[in-house]
Amino acid sequence: MFDSAQLTIGKDPGTPIECSIQMYLIDHPDGLVLFETGFDPQVASDPAGYLGPEIASLWKPKMKEEDSVVRQLERLHYGPKDIKYVILSALYMDHAGGMKYFPQSTFIVQRAELKMAWWPDPCVGGYNYSDIKETRDFKFIQLDSDYDVFNDGTVVVKSCPCHAIGEQVLIVRLKGGTIVNPTGVIPLRRNYELDAIPGVLMVRPGEAYANMQKLKGIITKERAKVLYHHDLTEWRTYKKLPDYYE
Ligand SMILES: [Zn+2]
Repeated sequence: MFDSAQLTIGKDPGTPIECSIQMYLIDHPDGLVLFETGFDPQVASDPAGYLGPEIASLWKPKMKEEDSVVRQLERLHYGPKDIKYVILSALYMDHAGGMKYFPQSTFIVQRAELKMAWWPDPCVGGYNYSDIKETRDFKFIQLDSDYDVFNDGTVVVKSCPCHAIGEQVLIVRLKGGTIVNPTGVIPLRRNYELDAIPGVLMVRPGEAYANMQKLKGIITKERAKVLYHHDLTEWRTYKKLPDYYE
């Protein structure tokens, strides 16, 4: 659960709304790419112990052990060592909880986000040191801008600071068309329709709005399918493992 106004500025403050947490696997000829790692599996059995009592009672996570990223990969007969790249939109605890299980992968993140997650400003919440403390010696591609993962335009991350200082969105170009995951920049379909930025921002509202418009421009131009990563209603309509987009 997140506060409605946290996701969409000014919209029903104080009203919690149930959200999805999503993870995607991209099968590219040059390697498997995991986008997002969700919560640490301990959140399924002991949310207060892992997230802390305050966040656990606020967010009320509904996670089962089989929801963890490693268990979902097992259903596809993959293990962490099969994953070449892991891309994270942000390092908040609903995105970075599974990082520690991929010591052999290369992580693609924005440099600013890594720094913030390691040593957040005192007023900034949402990061959990337990998610990242074991990753200090992992391999990272630290970005200060956009990145074309395979240099062929099929898997592209775009730097879009918004509700995270090092937020990045994912653009995947398949034979069947473009898919955009606008992550925390446009977390719900209603943000897109209302032209509304999130209510919790790490940048000036004008910059968040400009980033949203830039993204909407790509979505319109490429007639992209949009996968809204925290939208539970939308998520129910998406293809899920073992089904896929191609
Ligand atoms: Zn999130």
